Amino acid sequence: MRHLDDRKAIIATCLRMNALGINQGTSGNVSQRTPDGYLLTASGVRYEQMQPEQVVEMDLDAGYLGDWLPSSEWRMHQDLFRARPDAGAIIHTHSTYATAMSCLRRDIPAFHYMIGVCGGATLRCSDYATFGTQALSRAMLAAIADRTACLLANHGMICYAADLDGALKLAVEVECLCRQYFIASQAGAPVLLDDDEMHRVLERFRSYGKQVQDSGAPAVDAPQRRDLGSR
Ligand code: 13P
Ligand code: ZN
Repeated sequence: MRHLDDRKAIIATCLRMNALGINQGTSGNVSQRTPDGYLLTASGVRYEQMQPEQVVEMDLDAGYLGDWLPSSEWRMHQDLFRARPDAGAIIHTHSTYATAMSCLRRDIPAFHYMIGVCGGATLRCSDYATFGTQALSRAMLAAIADRTACLLANHGMICYAADLDGALKLAVEVECLCRQYFIASQAGAPVLLDDDEMHRVLERFRSYGKQVQDSGAPAVDAPQRRDLGSR
């Protein structure tokens, strides 16, 4: 079978989503880019029962291979892979708090600096459109502009990263942020970080988490490395 290891990695990600409590039933879908298209979970198949052949091979022109119909949200996956060359994997899920907040049809503001993990000072919510439609994909693309995640009105969330691990991490982060915002909003009116502060945060995110052996910018305000030989 073509892309067998990648199919297994997608199923492993799906099972992780269930174990983490960010997905239930047959809602949600997961994809990974391939050299000539992408792989996408089949429509309406429970992750616990999903077999490698039920991860569908797609091209980027509305075509699929094999005996299984791809996710009803294939348009969102196709359009995001087309629009974002840096997208290697995409996760769409109906995780509880992200979905609850999406029903308010409001952007999540900068109540916490971690909102910057989505690439900007807000986590936007899309306009509403029926699931599985081109209209939903259009609304999603507008909401995810300059970001790597957005809420989908009265539906859930979608995010992408360079690989499956990164996309899963971001999906968990978005769910966590929505939960925190929900709780803070219950207790009062969260004090928001202003644009200057979010600018500083986004600047720091460029190097955050990079270790000395990683390439790229060293962490901002890192301490000085001492020479072990002198100890
Ligand atoms: P699929 O089972 O077709 O992937 O649909 C689930 C879903 O979340 C639709 O928005
Ligand atoms: Zn959905």
